[in-house]
Parts: sequence; structure tokens; C-alpha cells
Amino acid sequence: MQRIDKESSQAIFDLADKNKQKIVNLLVDLIRIQTPVPPGLNYEKAIEFLSPQFESFGFTCTKHVMPENTFLEKQKSTNQLLDGPRINLQAEKKSGKKPGLVLYAHVDVVPVQEESWTVPPWEGVIKDGKMYGRGTSDCKSSIAAILGALETISALKLDLAFDLNILITTDEEVGPYSGLCWLADMDVVWGDYFFCLDGSSDTLGIGANGMLEWMVEVHGKSVHSGISFLGQNAIEQTNLIISGFLELKNEIEKRRSVMPSSPEIQNQTGGKRANISPVLNVTMINSGVKVNIVPDKCVIKGDRRYIPEENIDDVIKELEDKLAEIKNAHPELSYELKTRKIYGGYSTEPTHSWVSFVKNIISYIKDEEPPIAGAQGSIDVGCVMEKRKIPQCAFGAGTTLESRIHGHDENILVSDLLDLTKVIALVITNPLD
Ligand SMILES: [Zn+2]
Repeated sequence: MQRIDKESSQAIFDLADKNKQKIVNLLVDLIRIQTPVPPGLNYEKAIEFLSPQFESFGFTCTKHVMPENTFLEKQKSTNQLLDGPRINLQAEKKSGKKPGLVLYAHVDVVPVQEESWTVPPWEGVIKDGKMYGRGTSDCKSSIAAILGALETISALKLDLAFDLNILITTDEEVGPYSGLCWLADMDVVWGDYFFCLDGSSDTLGIGANGMLEWMVEVHGKSVHSGISFLGQNAIEQTNLIISGFLELKNEIEKRRSVMPSSPEIQNQTGGKRANISPVLNVTMINSGVKVNIVPDKCVIKGDRRYIPEENIDDVIKELEDKLAEIKNAHPELSYELKTRKIYGGYSTEPTHSWVSFVKNIISYIKDEEPPIAGAQGSIDVGCVMEKRKIPQCAFGAGTTLESRIHGHDENILVSDLLDLTKVIALVITNPLD
């Protein structure tokens, strides 16, 4: 186990505390560059703002712009509201002699419903030790913390213990082919370890579920509702499928990953989901044009979160088999299934030296050990892990319950922002062995 250098740590803590206002201001500036996706219009502004700052700490910056045809084919085709250049920032500092470390955060945020906010969402308002604004916790605070950490160690003239590959990317919130997925395909995500800063401050993440979107289109025969017995009602047919899927849901959700789930989920489920579980959801339904017309089409959609131990092909086959079973019992049923993989699932052993290393640093700063947990949700880090299985873990500045990630009045504790700055500074300056 590594020893944390006490003297340099204290210097880092003191200077980071002294730089607090600067780090806070940086986050305010970032919040004010509005990058909601869809559409994702202001990525260029955000990257232009960040790039010179990394350069001032001696990093080589590359702006990776997703080619238009790739964007149209793999992103925009899935969501017509997406617009503007997809600019991703890579900031590198390489000696070739140290282990490589990826620091990852995304610059896009989810849109706001302004009427439900009690503060302006794009201002970075500070109130009672918290900063409010879209992206404060997910995850612009991480970008501010990376820069705050670099500023601190550069002023203290401390050496980096790793070659750093910092990736600030786009479209994580929409997928399926985010900036990080594209960078992974371009083989620029070099490094021996991966630190995902799109995490939370109450757990040390070691993995996430994969995600598959599915859609079933059910066909019927439209007639006047007065003679409905001569037609075939697509809604009634769909009901058979929903019932079948609910049976399957029961079966699927009995499975467990070896990855523990977060303490909140453990508590709220009375320990029934102490480990990460797969999920099958029916979340959308669309049918019918008029009360007196038997509908000839019904579309249901949903998602399937799969644990890292499950295989995507098996996940799809399970849906296909269930549908075939329902059709067997109801031969008149006519349907079409479509699936789309969003992000893959992945996990790192909780006892891995990289996880222990980061855990020790967090414990040292927060005076308590962070619980180690996997995420029920899914993230584009899965794209990287599918190409190269490197040890990874995740931490961030927002808390699962209080930060209202993706909700109104999203916020972080300013003290969590400072803690994250210190965690990053210690991680990148202390050698792993
Ligand atoms: Zn995020």
C-alpha cells in the first residue's frame, strides 16, 4: 500500500483552501457557458475556455472534433435535436516514464425546466455553503476541481506521479455515441488507470450497469369500434406483451452482480438489493388516434439495465425468446422488436490496488472510508472498458440524494468541491506503489 506524503499533502490542503474562491469562480464561469444536450450547441465555447488553462500548466491540448458524417450517422440519427460541432478536449502531459492515468469528465449537461427552479439555473448562485446551477454536480465541478488541483500542485512545484491524459468530452448525457466513445474508437484513450470524475462524493464507484434500449411495435387491424370484433386491437395485443415482460422482469431482477450497491439503495430496499441488480422497464407507450377507432398500431419502449456479468447478446435473446413464447400462446400476435445498445457495463475488483489507492486518499481527506459501490445507471466509460479493460474507479463532488442530479436546483456543497480538488491533487502526485 502506498504512503501518502504528509508534508506535501498539508501544503496542498492549505493552498487549495486559499484558492477556494478561484476554484469556485471557475465553476461559476463553466456553469454560465450553457451546454445542455440536446442540442449541445456550446461545446466549442466551453472547450475554448478550458484549453488555454490546461496549456498554462504545461499540457498539450488537442481539440478532437467528431467528423460530421460520424456525428450524423451515430448521434444525430438517434436524436434530431442534436446540433453543433462535437468538440472534445484532450490535455496530455507525458514523460513516457510514468504510468499513464486518464482523468475523465464531461462538459455537457442535461436541459433545465426553468419554471421548477427556485434559483436561476445558469448562474452558479451560492447560498448556505452550496452552489446551485445545472452542471454543478454532474459534472462541471469535476472540471473545475481538475484545474484547481493542477493550479495547486504547479504553484507548489510538485511532481506528477503519472503521465496524464485528461479527457473533457461531450454528449455523455444523451449517448449512444458520445465523445468518449468516439475517442475510445480512435485509440486516444491511452493510460494504465482510469479515474472517472463523473461520480458522487458519497461512494467510490467501481463499475456500472450496461444499458439496452428496446422498442416493440405491435400491429393490429383497424376497424370502426362498433364492430371491433372484426378487427384486431393493437393495444389489447400489446397488453399480452407487457404482461409477458413483467414476468420476465421478475425473473431478471432476482439476479445480482458481485458489485455492492450504494448504501442509499441498500437502505431504501431494506437490503434486498445489497448488490447491483439488472432491471427491465416498460417506460413509454403510444397508440390510438380516436376513441371510436380500433388502433392498428401500438408502440412500447423501455430499457434493460444489465449487470457486468450479463452478456448483451444474451440480454437481447432473452427478450426475443419471451416474445416468441407469447406469440406461441397467441399466434395472431404480430410485432417487431428493435434494440439499441447504449453503454456497456463494467466493473473493477473492489480489492484492486488502484481502487485501494484512491480509497486511501479519500479516507485521508474525508476522515472516513468511502463505501465502494457499483452504479445502477449507465455511463459512457463502458465504451472505453469494452476496448481496453483497465482498472477504473469513480468519484465526484455531488451526493446521490442531496445534489438533485438532473433535477431542479442541482447543487453541490462548496466543501465537496474543495475536497474533490484535494483528492485529485493527491491522486496525481502520489505514486501508486
Ligand atoms: Zn455525468
